[in-house]
Amino acid sequence: MIFFHCHKCDTRLSATPELFGTSIGCPACATWLKVPQLEDASKIVQAKSSPPAAPSDDLKARILTLTEEVKRLQANLLEVQGLKEGLELKLNDQSIELESLETSRRDLKSKYEKLKQTSQETIFSLEEKLSQQSKN
Ligand SMILES: [Zn+2]
Repeated sequence: MIFFHCHKCDTRLSATPELFGTSIGCPACATWLKVPQLEDASKIVQAKSSPPAAPSDDLKARILTLTEEVKRLQANLLEVQGLKEGLELKLNDQSIELESLETSRRDLKSKYEKLKQTSQETIFSLEEKLSQQSKN
């Protein structure tokens, strides 16, 4: 079992060994979090719990924490990039769909125009026949 903190809401979270290195949603704020590897977690715990013996150790711990932060941010960035790419793909799909809809709309319009013309012609010829009949 390891303990770590949600980087967004700082809720203390625990993870069993089978979750090490995987991603889970924070139960408090639903932020997507990467569960640290065991060695990372022990480093974090060590860095957080051990009192700074010397300034250099404190600095090392800070660098370690910052390195973890950078790793986490890079992972987030990758996730965001993945989401963005997915959205762009969807957007692309939708514009293709829109194009085909536009094409069928144009098709329907021209069909409608033809139908309109045909019915006008039919009405015209019927009227002509009617007027001829009434003359007879
Ligand atoms: Zn959280």
